[in-house]
Amino acid sequence: KLPVVAVIGRPNVGKSTIVNRLCRTMSTEPDAIVYDYEGVTRDRIYRKAEWNGRVFEVVDTGGLIFDEDQDNLFAPQIREQALLALEESVAAILVVDGQVGVTTLDEEVAKFLRLQKNKPIFVAVNKCETPNMGEAMASMFWKLGLGEPFPVSGLHGAGVAEMLERMLPHI
Ligand code: GDP
Ligand code: MG
Repeated sequence: KLPVVAVIGRPNVGKSTIVNRLCRTMSTEPDAIVYDYEGVTRDRIYRKAEWNGRVFEVVDTGGLIFDEDQDNLFAPQIREQALLALEESVAAILVVDGQVGVTTLDEEVAKFLRLQKNKPIFVAVNKCETPNMGEAMASMFWKLGLGEPFPVSGLHGAGVAEMLERMLPHI
């Protein structure tokens, strides 16, 4: 059984994009759907990922949220989804949007994640492809209380290796 890493976060932060990037080297299956807001509740999506010879599974927790404009209405679903994914995971990646900054829903998800004892959580501050801006954008997310935030760009790949190098010893 492969170790499972849960990818968690509010809608539209780039979870599926990051999952696609992690799985690119293994791609025998179609990519996860990016910008999926069709409003259909689906099962969690498991995919194989590989980094530096380590094989693991990522679970994309997307696809359960209907309406991106009403974040708080759907917080319970996010929490439930996060819980199910976390139960079986050895570590989690909390994806947030560095261009938007910290939102109430990010804080809610973070609060929930802080309660998960002994589960290493890695904060991926996505959409940080602007040169030289990543560290400043990421540093806003220290206040989530989940340790060092990692500036990444799921779209372009920047920062993903650095974050994974920190994560791999924990899985
Ligand atoms: P999810 O709902 O969290 O799974 O988010 P998606 O992966 O579907 O991405 C939501 C939107 O953010 C899409 O329009 C993506 O193209 C965009 N996006 C994802 N990653 C990045 C990134 O690294 N940089 C930028 N600028 N946009 C991104
Ligand atoms: Mg998605």
